[in-house]
Amino acid sequence: MRRKISILGATGSVGKSTLDLIERNSDRFEVVAVTAATSAEGLANIARRMDAKLAVLADESRLEQLQALLAGTGCRAAAGEAALIDAALADAEIVIAAIVGCAGLRPVMAAVEAGTTVALANKEALVTAGQLMTRAAQTSGATLLPIDSEHNAIFQCLAGSRAEDVSRIILTASGGPFRTALPETIAGATPEQACAHPNWSMGAKISVDSATMMNKGLELIEARYLFGLPSERIDVLIHPQSVVHSLVEFVDGSVLAQLGSPDMRIPIAFALAWPKRIATPAQRLDLAAISRLDFETPDLSRFPALRLAREALEAGGAAPIVLNAANEVAVAGFLGNRLRFPEIAEFVERTLDSADFPAPQTIDEVLEIDRATRSLIESLMTEDCH
Ligand code: NAD
Ligand code: MG
Repeated sequence: MRRKISILGATGSVGKSTLDLIERNSDRFEVVAVTAATSAEGLANIARRMDAKLAVLADESRLEQLQALLAGTGCRAAAGEAALIDAALADAEIVIAAIVGCAGLRPVMAAVEAGTTVALANKEALVTAGQLMTRAAQTSGATLLPIDSEHNAIFQCLAGSRAEDVSRIILTASGGPFRTALPETIAGATPEQACAHPNWSMGAKISVDSATMMNKGLELIEARYLFGLPSERIDVLIHPQSVVHSLVEFVDGSVLAQLGSPDMRIPIAFALAWPKRIATPAQRLDLAAISRLDFETPDLSRFPALRLAREALEAGGAAPIVLNAANEVAVAGFLGNRLRFPEIAEFVERTLDSADFPAPQTIDEVLEIDRATRSLIESLMTEDCH
């Protein structure tokens, strides 16, 4: 019996790495559903290649195009939010959550509520609805398998240990392309420079997040909900080589780490095959050739986004949702040349300072805060232009 997989965000960077692994292991896995934002052609190609049963676009205006491209294949074409949820609820053993941003929240939550195993790359879903999602997973019996490399590393290091034996988790961060850049270089950074990550090849949004280190801030919040440790027991450590993917310290002073070459196919393969393992084509680690591993404490004045994320985590309530939504808008503003690079964190901070929302009790309320934050930061950005 092949394991059935649904891939939310199949056309993206994580989606493509997942497809690559499934094609190499077609005797073990089959793809039942795939989704994408707007590219009918890209999605139809994937659906045909993988012989999927369902292909869903978020953009309803391209449904006819998708239907035409899939005519005669036996793959059903659909579009819109309800159809994305259908893909999350398809007859699959594992749902790969690889949509970027808060847009993935409802489908991920649907899969969690249905008790499916969710391999989670879409960290924004957990940042905005961590408590609701972990509670839903407890109720339904769903398993959350982290794909984010740091969280996957921690998951691997924790295997078989008791929660009370863990004293600290340590998230490593490469420091991104501006780790040692001069302030004037950072101030004038272009989207192209910000997206040129030294070690990983990823989608545009997470690449900019890595350059501001908001990515590590979001991961701090993600870790809080995945592993149930408070902020003061989650550290961030800069490690420019991206070889040690994260570490766990235990009460006896032992520290376990997971190492590997920076290739997302390693954590994705772990999630696909869990609790077993499968081979991947990832480059083997040659520690003698690497010869040294460096570590340093992050400089919060250089990376204010990391400070903002920790503050939002500690404030709790709506703050992580505001942080995430403001960041999504600010990053899009930077990629569209509306904001300068340092303004990403500045506008996120101003939005956090002006926002005053009660803690959400439901996913609808989470999405309402997300929407209200987007218009709040938009008005702050517009005001600033006058
Ligand atoms: P990407 O931009 O390459 O791909 C995003 C996918 O989501 C695409 O398939 C796109 O069509 C879809 N999408 C975008 N907006 C959508 C919308 N509004 N509605 C429905 N679908 C939409 O992104 P990525 O780099 O693959 O990252 C995906 C997620 O995984 C992010 O949350 C990211 O933080 C996380 N992640 C990525 C990596 C990586 O190496 N790329 C590593 C760790 C975590
Ligand atoms: Mg990561």
